[in-house]
Amino acid sequence: MFDITNHNNIRAPRGNQLHCKGWGQEGAMRMLMNNLDPEVGERPEELIVYGGRGRAARSWDAFEAIVKTLLELANDETLLVQSGKPVAVFRTTPAAPRVLIANANLVPKWATWEHFNHLEELGLTMFGQMTAGSWIYIGSQGVIQGTFETLAALARKHFQSNTLKGRLYVSAGLGGMGGAQPLAAKMLDAVGLLAEVDPDRIEKRLATGYLDKVAPTVAEGVNEALRAKEAKEVLTIAVPVHATELLQYLVDNKITPDVLSDQTAAHDPLVGYIPDDYSVREAAVLRAADPDGYLEKARATIARHVELMLTLTRRGAKSFDYGNNIRRVAYDAGVKDAFEIDGYVPAYIRDLFAQGKGPFRWAVLSGKPEEIYKLDQLALDMFSENEALCRWMRLAKKHILFQGLPARIAYMGYGEREAFGVRVNEMVAKGELSAPVVFGRDHHDTGSVASPYRETEDMRDGSDAVADWPVLNALLNVASGAHWVSFHHGGGTGIGFSLHAGMVVVADGSADSAGRLERVLHNDSGLGVVRHADAGYELSFQTLEQNPVKTPLVGPETQPRRK
Ligand code: NAD
Repeated sequence: MFDITNHNNIRAPRGNQLHCKGWGQEGAMRMLMNNLDPEVGERPEELIVYGGRGRAARSWDAFEAIVKTLLELANDETLLVQSGKPVAVFRTTPAAPRVLIANANLVPKWATWEHFNHLEELGLTMFGQMTAGSWIYIGSQGVIQGTFETLAALARKHFQSNTLKGRLYVSAGLGGMGGAQPLAAKMLDAVGLLAEVDPDRIEKRLATGYLDKVAPTVAEGVNEALRAKEAKEVLTIAVPVHATELLQYLVDNKITPDVLSDQTAAHDPLVGYIPDDYSVREAAVLRAADPDGYLEKARATIARHVELMLTLTRRGAKSFDYGNNIRRVAYDAGVKDAFEIDGYVPAYIRDLFAQGKGPFRWAVLSGKPEEIYKLDQLALDMFSENEALCRWMRLAKKHILFQGLPARIAYMGYGEREAFGVRVNEMVAKGELSAPVVFGRDHHDTGSVASPYRETEDMRDGSDAVADWPVLNALLNVASGAHWVSFHHGGGTGIGFSLHAGMVVVADGSADSAGRLERVLHNDSGLGVVRHADAGYELSFQTLEQNPVKTPLVGPETQPRRK
């Protein structure tokens, strides 16, 4: 058996020995443990997985109770998890999900950080981010293809190129997700220069192969980056300073990056953003002693940060908000032109969502990297005509080191996901893979989220804040038989700004799994296409023509509905 009481060293079991009564429960248990593996999570000792304070469970007692319940859970029972705490087991049916999760949801008028912080202090809620509280985080790899696709689309749009060779990418934040930025920039042949205030985060990125080097000072980092840009070298460099220090240096020295972004956890100014003049340690002391004072300083720094980004944007940098809501936080702090900076979804990746493509991923419960490579080859063989996917699969295999259970991210779309999942299930059945495979996705996906400053910013029909879609998504995934389904509030852009759903299915080689995979992976992505067709996206109509869904009132004839 494995140990769940050594909280500094949680590690999911590997291999095909079943500890629970079914692979649905076993998959959920292993993925929860994997989120808290020190190789995977950012601060697992505090149950924090990534994204500011995105947690996997509300407390260690809750964590242990979840694991113990999953070990006992029958194949016709369902465990309910309320903001990271297991609250009940109900008799359902064998075809139902084994776990249902709701995290951080608040009645709209109460959906503010102030209410949330108060309820969290009382021990009544937990921030689940997107994949932390839904147990499908796979380390920095989970965002890297999204970052790669965003930068690739930017290169095509602004530089008419497939790469960023000879271009300088400047950003900040090397946390769980932000840590993927340098490697994504490297995959596009750019020079990356990133500010990160916490030296431990820089060390983690160096250790996991996401970053090339650290420069001791801003001046040295900038000089080296400019030299590499001039030589068209591919190099990524971190500087151990606040974002504002790096940007101020660039402004003062009239250096304009080609591409500019940010991935500090600015959506959560109290926990995810370190104000100017404070080290990480000093910030922790201030946060505990005077949270209001902390927030005031953090918001003032974020305002300055965005002012500096605006100056560089006006000098020609192609800048974008990469999903941390920094524009809105700065706007509320008085920067009224913050939205001159583009949002990355409408600017670069809406077309992918419109076709049902998003951050689909799988993890092999065997723990064997060679089984991921086998599945890489399967994807290359099955989708050889999909050039973008094949380009990605080759780059991923070459560049990405695994954290925790070996996993792979791939922006597969409508039709591709279920074809792949069902084929992998057959491989498990035939013993071509030595243990089951878990399939899931980020909540940051095509039909599963309402987030007006991110995934649904500037929708064609103005439906940015309509949150029926993620609710329908969660309900549909329950009805289709996902092994676990989650519904969260606040992920990505913070409390009050998003609602989103997730699902995971385990391929254990059985006919039951085959049916679940076929239904869930088809319906989940299909709903994303329908959501975008309903908003009037031509690409979605084309996608539906090839692979129709019964859509009584969705179609070009019901358009136009413009803002
Ligand atoms: P994280 O909490 O793991 O990391 C944030 C990092 O920012 C930390 O390393 C922290 O030290 C650093 N930081 C904080 N203040 C700083 C400052 N003033 N200067 C320099 N560095 C500073 O968060 P994460 O998981 O990396 O996520 C980052 C943000 O990206 C979050 O807002 C999250 O919601 C968002 N996000 C976006 C996507 C996407 O697809 N676009 C995906 C996941 C997360």
